[in-house]
Amino acid sequence: MKVLVVNCGSSSIKYQLFNMMDETVLAKGLVERIGLEGSVLTHQPDGKDKVVIQEDIPNHSVGIKLVLNALTDGKHGVITSMKEIVAIGHRVVHAGEKFADSVLITPDVMNALEECIDMAPLHNPPNILGINACAELMPGVPQVGVFDTAFHQTMPKHAFLYGLPYEAYEKYGLRRYGFHGTSHKYVSQQAAEIMDQHLTNLRIITCHLGNGASIAAIKYGRSIDTSMGFTPLEGLVMGTRSGEIDPAIIPYLMKKEGMTPDQIDSYLNKKSGVLGISGVSSDFRDIEGAADTGNERAQLAIDIFAYRVKKYIGSYVAAMGGVDAIVFTAGLGENSPDIRDKICNGLEFLGTRIDPAKNKIRGKAQEISVDGAKVKIFVIPTNEELVIARDTRVICGGLI
Ligand code: ADP
Repeated sequence: MKVLVVNCGSSSIKYQLFNMMDETVLAKGLVERIGLEGSVLTHQPDGKDKVVIQEDIPNHSVGIKLVLNALTDGKHGVITSMKEIVAIGHRVVHAGEKFADSVLITPDVMNALEECIDMAPLHNPPNILGINACAELMPGVPQVGVFDTAFHQTMPKHAFLYGLPYEAYEKYGLRRYGFHGTSHKYVSQQAAEIMDQHLTNLRIITCHLGNGASIAAIKYGRSIDTSMGFTPLEGLVMGTRSGEIDPAIIPYLMKKEGMTPDQIDSYLNKKSGVLGISGVSSDFRDIEGAADTGNERAQLAIDIFAYRVKKYIGSYVAAMGGVDAIVFTAGLGENSPDIRDKICNGLEFLGTRIDPAKNKIRGKAQEISVDGAKVKIFVIPTNEELVIARDTRVICGGLI
């Protein structure tokens, strides 16, 4: 059973083709610069050389067509016919309160996703375009939507409501939804497996630290709180996003700088975070490099980032009445021993400490806390594509 996993951004398509017999990746790749000059497909078949195809890709439909051509190509393809793809799984960012789990895409589901566009104007439209393009190019092949928000639908009302008039929730759905749900779910399950315990017995704090970053409190297998909110802007300080700020700053800046709503949105989403603080880059590799050569603002960006994560860990320990494991994942969480060390330094009161030798690990699942620590600390590489492929297999199993 071969499942295609698709993740459409506004100008990009990421894809992986899984053989679900053994959960191996047959090929993966990326379409970039859709609708722009210099559009390109980079296709990596398993066990063969990478192929770069530069071609005019005006829209997502042409992008998906190119991906299907690459997958079935005589030379660098991995399947002989498109018919081998029996189901498609899509990453969809925002499903509001409509879905608490992955679902088979139907016209009703598409309507529900259209209704969520207002809440995720950058993310949901390309997700919808991708689903439509696949339906057009592979008619009859079942498609599944896997939602970033779904895992957090277990949050209780006292955690997801803001201190706004209740009508704001009723009228506009203004509440915390949370994102990166697929990742938080996957790494918490992996942690339980490594600990050889049932997830339903564990309180786990998962730190997804990538360009976008969020943290979740997972009590006995259910997300009870998370740092991202109505949009992926809230919470931790991120690569280019501010994370939480005093909301009064927004009208203040708009007045002082004469900004429009779109301009303040871009300021908070694209020019803030560690990029804005350091003035160096949104990428921690650059920031750590600059800090090492004495750049004070780069060091400050690292300090602010780590302090915010630590503060959230503390608050989630309180929210869950304790913690059994802390997990680091995503680009930074998997690859930066220094950041992990900085975040965990001072958490000894919880009964845990990082082992510096174990903490050297990069991109591999491993415990990094000292032997016998009461609270285990793990690095666990996330694999959102595999979760999407698994959900797609489960949902489509009876249809194929
Ligand atoms: P996203 O999927 O949100 O775009 P990723 O999970 O791929 O992000 O994480 C990307 C970020 O991870 C980079 O911007 C960088 O800050 C960080 N990162 C990746 N590799 C390293 C590394 N070796 N050392 C430090 N930071 C790293």
